[in-house]
Amino acid sequence: MLTINVYGDKILKQKAKKVLKVDQRTLQLIRDMLETMKESDGVGLAANQVGSRDSIIIADLSHVEGYEKSKPIVAINPEILSGEGKSTYEEGCLSLPGIRLNIERSEKIKLRFQDTDLNFHEENFDGLFGRVLQHEIDHLNGILLTDRISAEEKKNIEEDLDKILNREVELNYQISEL
Ligand SMILES: [Zn+2]
Repeated sequence: MLTINVYGDKILKQKAKKVLKVDQRTLQLIRDMLETMKESDGVGLAANQVGSRDSIIIADLSHVEGYEKSKPIVAINPEILSGEGKSTYEEGCLSLPGIRLNIERSEKIKLRFQDTDLNFHEENFDGLFGRVLQHEIDHLNGILLTDRISAEEKKNIEEDLDKILNREVELNYQISEL
């Protein structure tokens, strides 16, 4: 299992780099990401959360009620082509342990991404799947939930953020962290 970077770690503010070739190292990273997400009971993970600048995200909702039949997705160089509608939902993040925030996002997205053979795909996602993917793509752009809230909301969670910065939190996770 890989170590998950948390709020304050520089790599979370850095933009991912495009993956131009998938080699053994890339495949091992993806396997480790899937394992780490599973062990943390997460529903999604971006590569920079585990210390890689590669533009790779994964999502797996199969342990979430209502999504049991969904398949895990590995998206390389993901890009949102368009978004439709708006919805607000309380999100958590493996990199912001203990914090939950209401975040407005598109209800539906059209996503272009590459698979591990670097073949291109275009797919529509909505509901929780669409939300998780938007959250993970934010990570690849160096954007955290704390960048998507107002200054006032951020003030309300300042103490919790300080605790994470000072590593005073227990890093135990719950289902539905992204
Ligand atoms: Zn996150």
